[in-house]
Amino acid sequence: MENKTCPFCGSDLKTIKQSGFVGCEHCYHQIDGLQSLVRELFAGKSFSGRKPNRRGNEEL
Ligand SMILES: [Zn+2]
Repeated sequence: MENKTCPFCGSDLKTIKQSGFVGCEHCYHQIDGLQSLVRELFAGKSFSGRKPNRRGNEEL
């Protein structure tokens, strides 16, 4: 069961998933499944809506 709460900031996986913000750096180690969740969140943000800009700046 994914029902762990970070003892440092009191955040749990459900709260972080809803808010989209990780409580503190300890959450990654305290809450099972958070790392994969954060990956999904970041991937979703960077790929939803806008296309990433090409880095095509050429300085002469
Ligand atoms: Zn925390």
